[in-house]
Amino acid sequence: MRAVTYVRNNTVELREKPIPEIAADEVLLKVGGAGVCHSDIAIIGMGDENPLIGSTLGHEVAGTVDKLGADVQGWKVGDRALVALILSCGQCRECLAGRDNQCETVSPRDSLAPLSPGIGVDGGMADYIAVKAHHLDPLGDLDVVAAAPLADAALTPIHAINSVRDRLTGDATAVVLGLGGLGHMGLQILLATTGSRIIGLDTDAEKLAFAESKGAIAIPSDGEAAGKILELTNGIGADVVFDFVGVQPTVNTALAAVRNGGAIRFVGLGGGSFPYLAGSDPSLPWGVNIERAYGGTRSEMRQAIALARDGKIGVEVKRYSLDDAVQAFDDLHHGRVQGRAVLVP
Ligand SMILES: [Zn+2]
Ligand SMILES: [Zn+2]
Repeated sequence: MRAVTYVRNNTVELREKPIPEIAADEVLLKVGGAGVCHSDIAIIGMGDENPLIGSTLGHEVAGTVDKLGADVQGWKVGDRALVALILSCGQCRECLAGRDNQCETVSPRDSLAPLSPGIGVDGGMADYIAVKAHHLDPLGDLDVVAAAPLADAALTPIHAINSVRDRLTGDATAVVLGLGGLGHMGLQILLATTGSRIIGLDTDAEKLAFAESKGAIAIPSDGEAAGKILELTNGIGADVVFDFVGVQPTVNTALAAVRNGGAIRFVGLGGGSFPYLAGSDPSLPWGVNIERAYGGTRSEMRQAIALARDGKIGVEVKRYSLDDAVQAFDDLHHGRVQGRAVLVP
């Protein structure tokens, strides 16, 4: 089968690999769609010593059940399924407490990231993927191409949003920094599940037009953005800022636009930073709650699927044939993708 393989620093190639054998508790999934994420670009840029070299990429994977292991129950050939982002153990303290995105078994404290398809085991940018049956969620009649990005691009924003849901009242203001793969889903989730005023920021005019068409206020992401947010909130600032980019300008905007006692969720991995001064620090308002959000739980995955099945959220998909994977990586890297690039085998 064909498999998008990370071969060396900043290089992926379509390689021929054997169709995986499945264990008794696994399912062979015929991949219908695999999303391309900025994290994939970050992963392949981690140098020539990266232990992930040689593996198949792809952590946003949907498809149809092709073959069942001997012990698998509850699935039949032809069923549509979404592969979990985090391949949690289901048994540790965090999993049992419903925080399976922080699974102790597959997410050691010093690990690069929790175990995921394409991050530690072969991912779904291929014709087939072998997955433990308990790492699949049913998609019903959802289109597998449009559903694949839900695994990260909807799950991760939902998790960040749920962590501040009590703040997102009808009189609150939430800011979405970056309207790319995750941001354009986060914006829709906020609009669909809260009554708050939503402000979307991006540097790209087309992405701003998308935000406006969905009912958000759109502001160009530049040095004046924080001032405009303060203006819109009578000088008080936003209740919650979601930074789906994480580059220095968006980190600066988040800090400058959040209100006293507000919250920031840093999701994007763009390498921005801020100094924390324990004392009278003018750069961080009093009472601000900050979380470095990662992924989401299986329960939140079900929420993402339900919102998509109800038509309340939808991924803007840019389709690429699996054979054009290198082009898709290149287009994403150069900011030429609106919404999410999805590889279709
Ligand atoms: Zn991702
Ligand atoms: Zn666990």
